[in-house]
Amino acid sequence: MSRVTVCARFRPLSSKEIRDHRDGSGVCVRGIDAENFVFQDDKEDEFTFSLDRVFYEDSAQAAVYEFLALPIMRDAVNAINGTIITYGQTGAGKTYSMEGPGIQDSDEHKKGLLPRVVDGMFEQIRSSKDMARYTVKLSMVEIYMERVRDLLDLSKGNIQIKENKNQGIQLSGVTEVPVSDSAEALQHLCSGLANRAVGETQMNMSSSRSHCAYLFTIQQDSVKDKRVKTGKLILVDLAGSEKADKTGAEGRVLEEAKTINKSLSALGNVINALTSGSSNKANHVPYRDSKLTRILQDALGGNSRMALLCCCSPSTSNASETLSTLRFGMRAK
Ligand code: ADP
Ligand code: MG
Repeated sequence: MSRVTVCARFRPLSSKEIRDHRDGSGVCVRGIDAENFVFQDDKEDEFTFSLDRVFYEDSAQAAVYEFLALPIMRDAVNAINGTIITYGQTGAGKTYSMEGPGIQDSDEHKKGLLPRVVDGMFEQIRSSKDMARYTVKLSMVEIYMERVRDLLDLSKGNIQIKENKNQGIQLSGVTEVPVSDSAEALQHLCSGLANRAVGETQMNMSSSRSHCAYLFTIQQDSVKDKRVKTGKLILVDLAGSEKADKTGAEGRVLEEAKTINKSLSALGNVINALTSGSSNKANHVPYRDSKLTRILQDALGGNSRMALLCCCSPSTSNASETLSTLRFGMRAK
């Protein structure tokens, strides 16, 4: 991985947190500037964090997109792979940041990273001066309990991950829809999300317990020669990072929590291996430790770029989860 951008985003207080606030709990973040802030936990211990960028409660979706996603999207159109990940406990703002209030919501200000990436990608392709023909393909999968489900075709079983010498990591048999403009892409993303909701009901699980990955393959066929270049861009809305309730969790809930925990630590370990040992080729990168890291393998390795958005609640009542989210972010740097 050539570069990783780590940002934190604090969402506004929720109405519940505002109510709790009156009972004496507070706001755990005090901004210093665009990169530094002081975090105060529930015991009033203070920690100073420095990240590439901090987005405070009033941050605009457009600002998050421009800082964190736009450069990676641009590179992907130029055949440099990239990954954009939202991390954090359930309710911290991962899906809001990724999708906005809805993938096809008409409110321009509230649009999330995903529809902005899609718009930006086709805009860049249209205005490209390269003598090339572009083909964009979209796939969408959900990882739940280490099984990979094709969200564009629920009739497919567990999708296998294979490595191919020329094309790198491949999801065998996964639906790849060619998309020629953003309206078409958003339409498919919407049906994928609708399928995800159907699966949730059928399997009686919550989408906060699975990872959702949006995969774009951007192929560039040169008009001048026979050269073909491909960029992969993967956006991931991760499962909630919260620890299982130590007393209450049992059975499937506990299994889910363990599986999520395992894949999130695998992600942390992979990022860590890539960022700390980039000059050392022999450095082992444990991609195979989870389906998530395996799928992301070639959108993280090589000269890929990555951005991590650590989504946080601003409330002291969530301080311990927020602290562990911020520590995950710091470790990725
Ligand atoms: P997660 O996906 O991490 O579980 P959500 O994105 O669903 O969390 O956010 C939880 C709630 O907070 C939602 O009602 C969402 O609309 C709201 N929310 C999250 N981030 C923001 C934000 N930056 N601005 C306004 N509302 C937000
Ligand atoms: Mg969510």
